[in-house]
Amino acid sequence: MNFDLIYTTIMYIFVFLFGVCIGSFLNVCIYRLPLGESLIKSNSHCMTCGTPIRKRDLIPVISWCMLRGKCHACGAKISPRYTVVELLNGVLYLWVFLHFDVVISPLYASLVSLMFSALIVVFFMDWDTQLINTGVVIFIGVLAIPKYIFCQRSCPTTLTSMILGAFIISIPLLIISLVSHEKAMGMGDVYLMAAAGLFLGAQNIAVAMLIALIVGSICGIILKRINGDSVFAFGPYLSVGIAVSALYGDKIAQWYTDFTGINEMMEETAALITGLF
Ligand SMILES: [Zn+2]
Repeated sequence: MNFDLIYTTIMYIFVFLFGVCIGSFLNVCIYRLPLGESLIKSNSHCMTCGTPIRKRDLIPVISWCMLRGKCHACGAKISPRYTVVELLNGVLYLWVFLHFDVVISPLYASLVSLMFSALIVVFFMDWDTQLINTGVVIFIGVLAIPKYIFCQRSCPTTLTSMILGAFIISIPLLIISLVSHEKAMGMGDVYLMAAAGLFLGAQNIAVAMLIALIVGSICGIILKRINGDSVFAFGPYLSVGIAVSALYGDKIAQWYTDFTGINEMMEETAALITGLF
C-alpha cells in the first residue's frame, strides 16, 4: 500500500470539497455585496416567493441537484449559476494546489486560492453590476503581505517588484480612467490592478494585463455581435488575466521574451552602448 499516494489523494479531495463550500459563501458575497446586505446573517430565501431556504437545502451542489434546480415551495427555477460558482471554486482550488503542490507549498497555494475566490466575486459582481467591491480588492492586496513574509522559498519576489507591480499597470489605467471620465475604465479596475500587482509583482501583472486585453477584445467582439451592446465591464477579463498569470505568468513571460528576442535585443543594445564609451 502506498500511503503517501493515499494521503495526497485525500488531501486533494479535501481541497476540492473545501473549495466548493467556500464557493457557496462566494455566492452570498456576489448577491449581497451590491445590495449592502450582511454576509454573516443567514437569511437565504427564494428569490421568487421569499420562502426561507431549509437547512438541508443549503448543501453546496448536492441540494441544487436534489431539488432539480427548483424552489421546493413555489417551483421557481433556481439559477444554475450558484452551482457553477461552487464547482468553479472547487476546481480552481484543486488546480492551484496541483500546480503548486499541496505538500511543497501549501501556504502559497492557499494564498493564491484565496485570491482566486476574490477574483470569482469580482468576475460575477462586475459582470452583473459593473461595480468592483473595494473590500474584495483590499482583501487581494492584503494577501501580498503573508506572501512576501512567508513564501519567499515557493515564490521568490522582491519588495521592489511588488511595489513596482502595484503601480506599473494601475497608473496607466488611472490616467485612462481620468481622461475618459471613468467611461473607458472604472476606478474599480485601477484598484484591482494595483492590489493584484502588489501580489503578483511587476512582470506578472504586465502578463495579466496582456491576457486581459486579448481575452477582453475577443469576448468584446463576440458579445457585441450577440447583444449589440458595446458597454461591458472590464473587471471579468482582468480577473481572468490575473488568475492565468498567477499560475503561468513566469512561463508566459519567458516564452514572450524568447519569442520576441527582447532579451538579446537589450543585451546587444547594452553592449553597443558600453562599446561607445
Ligand atoms: Zn420559491
